This record gives sequence, C-alpha cells and structure tokens, in this order.
Amino acid sequence: MIIIDGSEGEGGGQVVRNACALSLVTGKAVRIENVRAKRSKPGLMRQHVTAVEAARVIGNAECEGLNVGSSALSFTPGRVVPGEYRFAVGTAGSTGLVLQTVLMPLLLADAPSRLVLEGGTHNMLAPPFDFIAKCFLPVINRMGPKVEARLIRHGFYPRGGGRIEVDISPAPLRPINCLERGSLIGVSGQALFAGLPFEIAEREINIVRRDLGWSEREACVRELPEDQGPGNILLLEVQFEHGTEIVSGFGQLGVTAERVSKKAVGRMSGFLESNAFVGPYLADQLLLPFALAGGGSFTTVKPSQHSLTAIDVIGRFLDRQLGFTQQPGGTHVLTVR
Ligand code: AMP
Repeated sequence: MIIIDGSEGEGGGQVVRNACALSLVTGKAVRIENVRAKRSKPGLMRQHVTAVEAARVIGNAECEGLNVGSSALSFTPGRVVPGEYRFAVGTAGSTGLVLQTVLMPLLLADAPSRLVLEGGTHNMLAPPFDFIAKCFLPVINRMGPKVEARLIRHGFYPRGGGRIEVDISPAPLRPINCLERGSLIGVSGQALFAGLPFEIAEREINIVRRDLGWSEREACVRELPEDQGPGNILLLEVQFEHGTEIVSGFGQLGVTAERVSKKAVGRMSGFLESNAFVGPYLADQLLLPFALAGGGSFTTVKPSQHSLTAIDVIGRFLDRQLGFTQQPGGTHVLTVR
C-alpha cells in the first residue's frame, strides 16, 4: 500500500483527490495520513468526502476513514465501471472538485459515462464551471477523449443548489505540446450576480474596463435569477489561438467589489504580460492527465505549491518524471518523461 503524508507540500484537498484518481487508474491501494493538515480546519470536509465517495462508487473501492473530520483515509480500488452517476455535494462544496477526482478514471474506461453533479459551481478555492468548460476540457479533448460539460444551474456558496452535467467519451490520453498560445483572439469580462445589488457587479466591471481597457461590449454585468443567489463572481476570460485562460474574482462578504476586481485584474495583467500557455491553476490540473499520457509539455508561469505537490503525489504511483524548467523571459516549461 502507498502511504502518503497529507501534511507534506501544499497539504490540501488536492492530495486526496489526486491520490484517489491515481489509485483507481493504477489499481494501487493508498493510505493518506494527516489529511489536509495544513488547512485551518484539517481533516476531510464534506466536499472531500463527496469527492472520495464518488471515486469509491465508480471504482468499486473500499474505504476506511471516509467521514467528515477524518484525518486518515485508506482507499483500496476495485474495477472502474463507466455509466450514469449522480453525486450531490450537500453543502455548496465544489462540483468541479468532484469532477477532478473521477474524470481521469472514467475517461480511461472502456465505455462512455454521464455524470450529474450537484452543489457549488462557482466556489472560492476551486475551478469555476466556466474554467472547467473553456480552459481545462479543451486541452483534455485535444489529448484524445471527448468530454462535454453543461451548466444547468449556478450554485454559489453557501446556498449551493447548482448542477452540472458531463458526458465523457473515453479514449487513451495522447501526449501533446502546449508551448505557444498564439495571438490574442478576444477578451470577455463578466460580473455575474444573483440576489445582490446590481451596483456590486457594476463597480467590479468598471474597474475591469478602466484598468484592462476592455470595452463595454467586452466587459459587462450579467444578472442571474434571484433564487440562484446570493452570489457574485467576476470572470475574466482571454482567448488565444490555441487556448483560453479565465481568472476569477470571488465576491465575499466584507470584501469590497473594488478589491475583488483589482485582485483579478492584477492576476490577468500578469498572465497577459507573460507568454505562458496556461496559468497557475490550469498547470496543477493538467499534471495528472499529462502524466497519464506519458509525455508532452506545456508552458506556464512560476510553478505553484499545488503543482509541486501534485508532482510528488504522481511520482508515488507512476514511473514518470515531471519537471519544470525556467526559460529565459521567466516562463516555465513542464515536461513529462
Ligand atoms: P485544494 O486547495 O488542494 O483543495 O485544491 C484546489 C484546486 O482548485 C486546485 O486544483 C486549483 O488549481 C483549483 N482552483 C482553485 N482556485 C481556482 C480558480 N480561481 N480557478 C481555477 N482553478 C482553481
């Protein structure tokens, strides 16, 4: 059995999700100790339990310690069975993070699957639906499989109630190179809000127009039905010839609209100034598929702790070498050998 110390490196939920996904793909049992030891509320939270439960169900695995608050989890995989599944994260936990846990095993399975995931779709500290659909999945689809995701209903913290549907047509993952992003094709900024005053979103979008120079047509406010709120997210999207990046600003009680927007604008400016293909979040999310493909490369900004930790976890299951090398000009290239 592979033993992982969950307090090492980044020490968050991604260690658990990646370990379960890798366990299902390789058939190797794993035990994670000191789960999420570096977080303010350590141990498994509800959304991690749902993610591991989803992996347990699709992979007929046996688990020990799968409960909220647990600090040690054992996962013994069985056979992955593709099919139709519905998983609900009871609170507004992220549906995107549940998808992260089960996607690789299902897209390497021998038949298609359809997932219905309910919970949060636009959560802090997780990939928003738009990021999954427009940034992450297009790269996965270039690698061979066909994965389509639909947003049926938005879900914000704390109410949740969101729903996404995902169709997965499996295929072996083939190595690809994502080195040049190509020229800028278009930009789009949206301040989404539901059940909150219009002026919050308006103040966010005014900063985007002023600081990024995006036009009124390129950056606008979008109101969602009130019963999908309260919630607010600022999505800044840039489409290049070969890939798309989305930077998000999450509206939060006690944080001004200006602060949410300026932070997102600052991160987008940094990405636009670099010539990296993928941003820091997409980088850590692509490590698992690239490792499973057994080759390939992408350019990114400075590697995050999440990325470095994901490489360590991958190295425990697969005999693959993943490494970042800095290029003149500051971008980094991830290569898999
Ligand atoms: P953890 O903090 O270990 O639960 O992992 C969080 C995961 O969510 C990582 O894979 C991050 O790349 C991803 N993530 C967090 N925030 C964002 C964001 N704003 N956009 C896209 N992905 C995100």
